[in-house]
Amino acid sequence: MRTGIDIGCPGATRSDAPGGSGFGTRVEIALQGVRVDAPVQRRSGAGPSDDNHVLVDGANAALPINPQSPYLVRDGRLMRGSVDTGLSVQVVPRPRFYDLVTADGVPYEKIARLHGADVLATTVVQTCIRYAEQDRCRFCAIEESLRSGSTIAAKTPAQLAEVAEAAVRLDGVRQMVMTTGTTAGPDRGARYLARCVRAVAEAVPGLPIQVQCEPPADLSVLTTLREAGATAIGIHVESLDEEVRRRWMPGKATVPMEQYEAAWDEAVRVFGRNRVSTYL
Ligand code: SF4
Repeated sequence: MRTGIDIGCPGATRSDAPGGSGFGTRVEIALQGVRVDAPVQRRSGAGPSDDNHVLVDGANAALPINPQSPYLVRDGRLMRGSVDTGLSVQVVPRPRFYDLVTADGVPYEKIARLHGADVLATTVVQTCIRYAEQDRCRFCAIEESLRSGSTIAAKTPAQLAEVAEAAVRLDGVRQMVMTTGTTAGPDRGARYLARCVRAVAEAVPGLPIQVQCEPPADLSVLTTLREAGATAIGIHVESLDEEVRRRWMPGKATVPMEQYEAAWDEAVRVFGRNRVSTYL
């Protein structure tokens, strides 16, 4: 699966005018990125990556790193060329927990990353059975960060608990996202996610944790995740168009839509309304 952050649109107006401060500008920077030197970046990883982490008018945003973007930041303002778009942009400072190392010698930065200003994100298993060339999702770079040495293949529950506690205490993290590469078992990685959630929930009681996974074959694991302490879940279909699914996610497209619909239904029953999401 993949992680990500929406660009929030509090008070956004639906203006598509070039240089406008409304919805259109926010969509454009989500697509084209912004030229800005942000200390918190993600150069590869599960799902779309190569992004700068900033606050756009105070809302968390992960924007593509694109040196060709017509948008840039000057004195905290989002500019299109020399025109002020009306939006403010603040870069997210490097968090203090990045400078720590786990009890077993792994830099915290390789265990979990800051997304936006206050979201801790991790990919608990950094490999995916769908990453073979013929199967992998065309937008995903999950194993590239492993190859580059910027993360480790599997994070233990104890490591995640240690990093989450520090990120909350030192950097004001307010929520956590845990995703996973798809594993070979019928749970597709959900059971290991549940072990990780349980460890973090015990270390940092009350921290909201969203999990992300493919539809598990046995839907009872959704209850296991909830009971472990997960407060929300993303089951990401990416597209509802079968042709697009086969072309862009050949591996994931082998999971029939009916399985997604059944998983969403059960997830809403278990997690509650507005706690179940998907990416399109
Ligand atoms: S299924 Fe695998 S290849 Fe596709 S987005 Fe998820 S981690 Fe990446």
